[in-house]
Amino acid sequence: QAKRLGKGCYQVLTPAMQVPAVQRLQLENQLREALIRQEFLLYYQPIISLETGMLVGFEALIRWDHPLKTRINPSEFIPLAEETGLIQAIDLWVLKEACNQICRWNQQFQNLPPLSMSINLSPVDLKQINLVENFQQVLEVNSLGNWILKLEITETCFLETLTFEQDLIKQLQAIGIQLCIDDFGTGYSSLSRLHSFPLCTLKIDRSFVSQIQSKIEGAEIIHTIITLAHSLGMDVVAEGIETNIQLEKLEELGCNYGQGYLISKPLDHLKATEFLTRVFYQ
Ligand code: C2E
Ligand code: MG
Ligand code: MG
Ligand code: MG
Repeated sequence: QAKRLGKGCYQVLTPAMQVPAVQRLQLENQLREALIRQEFLLYYQPIISLETGMLVGFEALIRWDHPLKTRINPSEFIPLAEETGLIQAIDLWVLKEACNQICRWNQQFQNLPPLSMSINLSPVDLKQINLVENFQQVLEVNSLGNWILKLEITETCFLETLTFEQDLIKQLQAIGIQLCIDDFGTGYSSLSRLHSFPLCTLKIDRSFVSQIQSKIEGAEIIHTIITLAHSLGMDVVAEGIETNIQLEKLEELGCNYGQGYLISKPLDHLKATEFLTRVFYQ
């Protein structure tokens, strides 16, 4: 195996081990080209208010239509994109595409309260030098109002990097971007830690939502998360709602928003437009 011996220092590859390295290199090159060839596309998953049942926004989720393989999901290429730093360019594309889409939808459905758009950021994105400027520019180009754009950062990422990024978060919030903690419950954030960040939303990880029925303490954990979030002035989104029982239980526990296959799977932009038309003009 090509073992890392120190900075910029690698052990020579043995022939038997060449295959994975070559494959990796191929994938890396394809990933590099994918942006130029416009092989990425966004799917949009609806997020609804559990209080009113109304659609409040979408989460943008990236897909890759690889020329040789079929569609590739983010879990299969995001890690490599992060390692190589390509994620910064990819997520900048996501930002532009998602903002452009929400701008068009909000114009098209002008008589309705504006919908929000959430995008996922990787910890590597936060290291980008012109991050705030880039965001500000994209907001301006699309004339996006305050609090339309939301950034999702996983709880684990928070724990790893954000001690240094507090300023960054404040700057983003100053230009009207909301912050969400994704996959909440999978890391080990302390209460005081959360309190020191200006955050707007906690997204409860799907693993907790799925335990709401099966485990006795399942509902109790969610109840605790919701109480905590509300006491810190944050909203709560439940991820991965798949059954009516989960939905009802979450409503009962005072969860603000929800998303999941029960409500809708992630949709391409045409299907998402149909969804919008259907929910608003049925
Ligand atoms: P995430 O942000 O936590 O997104 C939720 C994932 O759960 C999505 O998987 C979504 O399709 C899936 N999901 C939604 N509802 C349900 C449900 O009811 N049941 C089940 N079983 N799954 C559900 P996806 O699209 O494969 O994305 C996986 C992860 O990849 C995302 O997790 C996010 O962390 C990352 N990701 C996606 N798009 C981007 C992107 O544009 N940039 C970056 N940096 N990361 C992204
Ligand atoms: Mg997310
Ligand atoms: Mg999540
Ligand atoms: Mg996730």
